[in-house]
Amino acid sequence: MTSIRLLHQQPSPSASNPASNPTSSSLGAPLEVSSVNFVELRCPDIINADGFAVPGPDCNAPLATLADGEEALGFAAEQELLSGDLVQVTLRVDEETAAALNATRRPRRNQASPSPAPSGHRRRQLLQQGADDDENDGMSSDPEPEGEQLAAALDESDDEYGADADADEDEGADQDGGDDEDDEVAGMQAVEDAASELASRPRRELRSAAAIARRQSPSGFKYVPGTLRIKRRGEQKEIYTGSPIPLRATIYLLDFCNWTNPYRSPEAFKKYVSSGNGSIENNLMNYYRTCSYGKSSFDWGNVTVIGPVQLPCKGNVSSGFLKYTFDASTKCGAAEQLSWVRGSEAYGQQLAATNDAVKSILTWTQRRRIMLILPAQAKCGWAGLADVACTSPTCRSYIKGGYASNDNIMYHELQHNYGLSHAGKGMNEYGDPTDPLGDYNAVGTHLQCHNAPNNYRIGWAKPVNEIPGKGGDGWWGNLTAGNFTAASNHLRFTIPASATSDENMVVVNLAAASADPTAARIAYPKYFLSYRVRNATAGAFDSGITSGYSNRLIIHAFNGSQSERDYNRSLLIDAGPKFSKPDPAFANGTVWAAPFVPYNAATGLGGGLRIRVLRTGPAAVEVDVCRMYDTREGAPGSEACYAGQDRDCDGLYGLDDPDCAGSR
Ligand SMILES: [Zn+2]
Repeated sequence: MTSIRLLHQQPSPSASNPASNPTSSSLGAPLEVSSVNFVELRCPDIINADGFAVPGPDCNAPLATLADGEEALGFAAEQELLSGDLVQVTLRVDEETAAALNATRRPRRNQASPSPAPSGHRRRQLLQQGADDDENDGMSSDPEPEGEQLAAALDESDDEYGADADADEDEGADQDGGDDEDDEVAGMQAVEDAASELASRPRRELRSAAAIARRQSPSGFKYVPGTLRIKRRGEQKEIYTGSPIPLRATIYLLDFCNWTNPYRSPEAFKKYVSSGNGSIENNLMNYYRTCSYGKSSFDWGNVTVIGPVQLPCKGNVSSGFLKYTFDASTKCGAAEQLSWVRGSEAYGQQLAATNDAVKSILTWTQRRRIMLILPAQAKCGWAGLADVACTSPTCRSYIKGGYASNDNIMYHELQHNYGLSHAGKGMNEYGDPTDPLGDYNAVGTHLQCHNAPNNYRIGWAKPVNEIPGKGGDGWWGNLTAGNFTAASNHLRFTIPASATSDENMVVVNLAAASADPTAARIAYPKYFLSYRVRNATAGAFDSGITSGYSNRLIIHAFNGSQSERDYNRSLLIDAGPKFSKPDPAFANGTVWAAPFVPYNAATGLGGGLRIRVLRTGPAAVEVDVCRMYDTREGAPGSEACYAGQDRDCDGLYGLDDPDCAGSR
């Protein structure tokens, strides 16, 4: 059903005109990272003279997919990429593609470049057959702005791979005279030569080169492996730190190819979807107001709906210096998506000339959501698609018309913009029915808020008994191995229902010896314990939690942090008191056990966890979290049997434990 491209998007170089910002053209493509499906290149937004976010005209980044699927996730995680990071990539093309590109070049004679040419000295070396460093010495070359930028679009890098982060921010000097020979495009030999050179630089090499070589850009051009270099890392923006975050959004209702979207007016959309009309509880405004504990909002003062907007079905769309053909009657690729965004924004900007409310939102230059409601007939293989994280002037989500009455999907996509990844269970990426980023179909028309890991991730909720000012590291807030001793290994907690408090989880992290970031660590899952209760009131917090998870202690595993560069996903593990996979050592099924690894007395790390529910109530659960130091109390006659401890967390101490039978 939903095939979602999680795109990380990045802030543009700066909120200024590129002409006055010499770094903007030297910086390569902004990177879109989908935490799951795609890593793509996209031209960064710049802010034009009217205050609108538009793609930089100097951008020479192709609409290219660098990786997809699990490969994309691995790529993003390995490089610690965040959407919106500015990168330089070296992409090379085969001969056929090179010839096609030459054919698409704009006339280059007698045409001034609108701004300093981008750097990318090295690229020519990669493009030219038999190129050598003498002829193509980086700093001196790149004679022709026009030809150069096209070449750079395909093959940009600096003079040497990564030796100096600022080496190529010298594009102003790249205006010397041209040489037609420089425009020759290349054979595969040069590509292979370059590739072999790149092979010695594994850190910068694009991952899974062979797979990437199979990718095609929307134009059909084929790219072969290249390198990627991060030029500027964007900052994550939307972790709650004390000030409510109002979402700014522009929602466009699109018609194209003689197809119409389901809404014939902004009022119809607002009434049915966004505000709720009395029968739909899970409307977007309510989702944010309720699930964020007032920490974020989706209100009409900051959100505008525009449309229906009539867009062309086919045509060409520019992305910086490159043009792409789109045909929405048959495709739903990057070129079509770009055409929808560009067409919508152009329409909105026209409207802004006479509508101050629209203008105030369209000129918002940080993390504005653009949501596009498509006709149901659009040729998209997904229900929704969204950028993961919103660190740029704009980020995007797309909702296919057939799903445009489903607030769960719209909220799901908008929360990708917030930086969240999917909530899974087992091998099912969407398998967690306790989170809208998981199996949101379980919710029906009701409202269901996030699971504990996702709430922690965006700062909407935190561990219980957190010490103020200590983040999640307080004594009872985020348990580490150091919070347990063999003599005091049963810790009992009252965890409030998520609806009742934003301090509503216990995080058990036996991987770390203490909360000190430098403390010893081992590989071990981090468990999030929370309690969810279905509320019978329409539209209330967790009115949509399914019965299998209502009035249950819910255990998630999540090794992630609050960093948006961290691509760990949450996994639903189990729920009690009657666990689906209880510890087999306990016949009544009321004890859940984490994996056991041998305890290391020297480091204080290792062991295991046994968790049992002591009592469930309408507003809280009481739970016993026991750290195991061994899988049995001790061998009969051993010292451990006389220590009066419950080292195996079975509730029996020392000699009372049958493990120690025969000790006396
Ligand atoms: Zn998704």
